[in-house]
Amino acid sequence: MDMKINLGDLTLEELTDYVKAHGEKEFRARQIFGWIAKGADSLDECTNLSKALREKLAADAEIYLPKARRKLVSKLDGTVKYLFELKDGNTVESVVMSYHHGYSICISSQVGCRMGCTFCASTLNGLVRNLAPHEMTGQVIAAQKDMGIEISSIVVMGIGEPFDNYDSLIKFLKNINNPAGLGLGWRHITVSTCGLADKIRRFAGENMPINLAFSLHAPEDGLRREMMPVAKAYPLDEVLAACDFYFEKTGRRITFEYALSEKNGSLDWAEKLARLLKNRNCHVNLIPVNPVKERDYVRSDKKSVAAFMDYLNKNGVNSTLRRELGADINASCGQLRNSEL
Ligand code: SAH
Repeated sequence: MDMKINLGDLTLEELTDYVKAHGEKEFRARQIFGWIAKGADSLDECTNLSKALREKLAADAEIYLPKARRKLVSKLDGTVKYLFELKDGNTVESVVMSYHHGYSICISSQVGCRMGCTFCASTLNGLVRNLAPHEMTGQVIAAQKDMGIEISSIVVMGIGEPFDNYDSLIKFLKNINNPAGLGLGWRHITVSTCGLADKIRRFAGENMPINLAFSLHAPEDGLRREMMPVAKAYPLDEVLAACDFYFEKTGRRITFEYALSEKNGSLDWAEKLARLLKNRNCHVNLIPVNPVKERDYVRSDKKSVAAFMDYLNKNGVNSTLRRELGADINASCGQLRNSEL
């Protein structure tokens, strides 16, 4: 890897210091920040900077946008899945979904993952590396540019565990929210975590009231440890206490994700789940598990899914079923990248 600074990794404040250190006026930082958000792929594309200035900056800095190595478009619902190639040749996946309120993108936070969830495709080959902030913003910007659309919400629910790449995640969120760039409001951003309780607490103090989704998947530690090794380090009571703290600090209701399979999808589990979440201001998102060929999880049938949801809703736990999008392009994350490894 070359040692040039990627200007997309800097916050606007850092970029301002950077241009000042190069003897330039502050407003240049805002111009560059704006170019990056618009999808510039090199300093040369920043055409309101003089050629001399572009050359001066290019001596130790660069701008780079991920490249779509593959693009799959669903014939069923228009969902678009990208396999983006990064500068070092690594790849990550992003999915753009169209809703009545606009376009939403699901982005990756790491190349691979080390959390080891036993139903997930992204973790099969472990973690390769963290994404830099510009590689997270880059997925949003490159998709917008390619599709000629404006994205109105972002979920960090693709490959990787965002809280395992904490510092880059924070910079990404700052940059995506900054009105000098894309200016996306906190309420339009969701971060999903497998439950790193200490990071959830830390994040509650960042003054970024985004939506938090917690991948619960089991209402008891025993089953949860079997499905998600991370539960050995962070027992449920610790994670739930951290979620409560997040809600108190930000006022944002937590979403609990629950992938339904034959392992955790019977009414016994629904009963335990209802007991666990009863007095919480939360929402449960049920997802029939996506079969992954290397994994042995069997998706709950339609009847069991309906019964599970019905039980929760009748027992004071607000729940909905996630609509399946892009079924024909295998839009859930991890599998396209694996197929190219
Ligand atoms: N690491 C983060 C975000 C990435 S995973 C997290 O764990 O939340 C995004 C969501 O997809 C998580 O809820 C995850 O548990 C879920 N998921 C992973 N594999 C799945 C599968 N095969 N079927 C259904 N959901 C799955």
